[in-house]
Amino acid sequence: MAYRAEGRIQTNPGEPGADTIGQGRLRAFVGYACKVFGLRKGLETVQDRRQDPTISTYVVAAALFFCGLLRIRSLNALEPKLREKPFIRLVGRSGKEGGLGSADTLSRGLRQMKVATVRSLSECIVAKAERNKVFREGWIGAMHAFAIDGWEPISSYHRHCDQCLVRHVRVERGGEVVEVEQYYHRYVVSMLIDERFDMALDIEPLLPADMRPGGAGKDGEHEGEQTAAIRLLRRVKRTFGWLEVVVADGLYPNGPFLTVVKQLRMSAVVIAKKDGDEPLKEALALWGKGPAQQVIVDEKAQEQIELWDCRDLRTLSTYDGPIRVVRARITSTEQPQRPHRTWCMVVTGAATGRLTAQSVLGMARGRWHIENTGFHQWTTLWRFAHVFVHDANGMLALYWLFFAAFNLLTLFLYRQVQCYGRDRGKNVTRTISRLVEEMRDELARLDHSPWDTS
Ligand SMILES: [Zn+2]
Repeated sequence: MAYRAEGRIQTNPGEPGADTIGQGRLRAFVGYACKVFGLRKGLETVQDRRQDPTISTYVVAAALFFCGLLRIRSLNALEPKLREKPFIRLVGRSGKEGGLGSADTLSRGLRQMKVATVRSLSECIVAKAERNKVFREGWIGAMHAFAIDGWEPISSYHRHCDQCLVRHVRVERGGEVVEVEQYYHRYVVSMLIDERFDMALDIEPLLPADMRPGGAGKDGEHEGEQTAAIRLLRRVKRTFGWLEVVVADGLYPNGPFLTVVKQLRMSAVVIAKKDGDEPLKEALALWGKGPAQQVIVDEKAQEQIELWDCRDLRTLSTYDGPIRVVRARITSTEQPQRPHRTWCMVVTGAATGRLTAQSVLGMARGRWHIENTGFHQWTTLWRFAHVFVHDANGMLALYWLFFAAFNLLTLFLYRQVQCYGRDRGKNVTRTISRLVEEMRDELARLDHSPWDTS
């Protein structure tokens, strides 16, 4: 499955301008990102609040975009490159004006960057892909689904800023257990999930107590994940109106969340874990010890799936409308002695009403993408968990630049590199890592700007 074995760039007739792909991967990537997604223009629209900066906002944004794409590990590691011709060319400058500044310049630029302008860069890429019909086929049931989940990339006992969240944790110090303050930043992230590719859609921070809308509240606590998730959900729907289904974990099968989903005219597939909570409690009572309503053997996955499905439950008092509950019990057909796994899902909305119980299970299991393709890869392969700048505005601006890089690389692989995509197989991570390595090798030899595609 490695793309290297197949070796060739495939042009995609449905994509305007995609026929100008050259030899090198980095050059091809920049050409594709510019021609199809207007990357240059997008980076040029990023703004910041610095007064008369010597290094333009465009350079700051472009340098950090490539820092993310090429997985450069820190601002210190990036700093020498800012004076090297190949990197200056990569950013689209001739080098006649001198270098691209220092790590401090980039850090200052990030702190002052207007988040809405850099968010717009990333949003425009996904919106353009949608207009180019990249997502036309949809996912399960031809639907467009996205997952939301909480994510905590950064925590520290020492370094903190004025927007850190704080918690008390017990740690061992010098043979004694003591309670100390731990500082962290937590976000809710949304990701488009699909069998072919996953795209980062949006990110919203959990706000500390003194920044909560309407004041700190009676408890003086920072806001909960669901509050940030609802803010995010509304913005996601406003930005990407074509999304139909939100998939979420066991924190969310509650009335207030499902009500917002309903107000936004979306559907939800939410994991339910607490047997005693409605509407799962009622569904379990109705099913009793009865046998499954449907038994499916999935030969490919080597599993047997027993399914229970129950519609029109109205026992969740905080939600006004019918709720469907699906339970699936999965047994390995290869190793039947292994304990089975049970999934329970709370389902709302018209669109998901058309899904079979097995498809509901498929969507719930697809939530795994945000943890694996998203958080796990961003932390282990990309540099999302490195503190490039400890400043709430700077971190968020940087995540948006990294999202743009992640999404463009995903689209490039799926649309332009042959034999990647539908059958992306298990080696997708390695394939991407090798592509990035190749791009880094190419950077060292870059003798003219890849932006000159005319
Ligand atoms: Zn902080």
